[in-house]
Amino acid sequence: METSQRIARSQPLATTAMHGRVDAMKARGEEVIDFSIAISHFQAPESVLQAVRDGLKQPSLPYTTVGGDAGIRARLAAKVSSENGIAASASEIIVTNGAKQALYQALYVMADPGDAVIIFKPHWPAYVTTCKLLGLEPVLVDLPATVSAEFLDSLPPAKILIVNNPHNPTGGVLRADEIERIAAWLKRTGTRAIVDESYEKLIFEGVHTSLAARPDWQQIGIVSIYSASQSYAMMGWRAGFAVAPSNIVTAMETLQGPITAAAPMLIQLALASAFESGEPMAMLHEYRQRRDMVLDMVHGLPWMTMRCPASGPYLWGDVSALTMDTKQFAEELLNQYAVALMPGDALGAPGFIRIGYISDDIATLRRGVEAIIRYGNARYRAR
Ligand code: PMP
Repeated sequence: METSQRIARSQPLATTAMHGRVDAMKARGEEVIDFSIAISHFQAPESVLQAVRDGLKQPSLPYTTVGGDAGIRARLAAKVSSENGIAASASEIIVTNGAKQALYQALYVMADPGDAVIIFKPHWPAYVTTCKLLGLEPVLVDLPATVSAEFLDSLPPAKILIVNNPHNPTGGVLRADEIERIAAWLKRTGTRAIVDESYEKLIFEGVHTSLAARPDWQQIGIVSIYSASQSYAMMGWRAGFAVAPSNIVTAMETLQGPITAAAPMLIQLALASAFESGEPMAMLHEYRQRRDMVLDMVHGLPWMTMRCPASGPYLWGDVSALTMDTKQFAEELLNQYAVALMPGDALGAPGFIRIGYISDDIATLRRGVEAIIRYGNARYRAR
């Protein structure tokens, strides 16, 4: 059967496509080490599991209002107010099935086809793919080491700026002065912002500052997105939310109503409990050990430079010294060594590779990185 022209023109999301390929290989009984995305092997916090058990004892689990149960939204408003410094009321919160749904809906209701959306690169592939699905114009701009006023003034006019802080894939965390400059620029230019703070709980060094932590966030037009996926190792729960001016929340509800309606009540309970469970210290401790182990392993390789990331579940390696196509790097590594990773091409940065280092156990991580090193060494010698 033919598909619509609209979807025929679209590409699947590179990260989920690679992950799907790995899953299919595993289903055929092949052994693959998967660094293509970051899927935590941690369980959700115990308080989340308890909230779900308690939820199951309720006489029924009804539909809630599309944007989420009023009590849940109030709890999430309290979270962003106390932790992020964003003064928001329950009517400025919308619960979604993960950050991806919040992103799609925010872009849909904030911009019209043809509108420009600035995305800093390297970037999470979903920003570009979602813009394209919606007929928006992604404008990719290299993210500099420091976000200066001069850099911001050099940006082209756009309807929306997407800010991913903490940043996937580099692990960078914007400093407070950079956040302040972005806010001033948004005000000066009238550009709106979508801020994806999905990695806010995975910070090793530095302090996370929310762009919307200011009294005029509604006037500037800032939408902040949060997710339990990475912050609490709850990828498969599909639990996230957005904080937005109330008219934007209402518009997002108009869109969400006929698609998923409200997020499942059990998931709403899990989401609020997750964000009330504090910092995921044990998880962070283990992630840091893994990060440092891999950095030690690759230290001194002549063909790869890898900076120590301040946050997040990824390592971002510059392999441009290999002078090869990084899509080919990923293909050969998967086919010859059964290790999957993301080539930087999909993230707007050919010449780089991204390793999601939190899936599987440490021994598997070590084996996978050893395979990458063997492959890279061979390619380096063959240059
Ligand atoms: N934003 C970014 C930048 C991400 O990398 C991820 C995880 N891949 C998410 C959000 C999480 O999305 P979701 O909440 O839909 O799982």
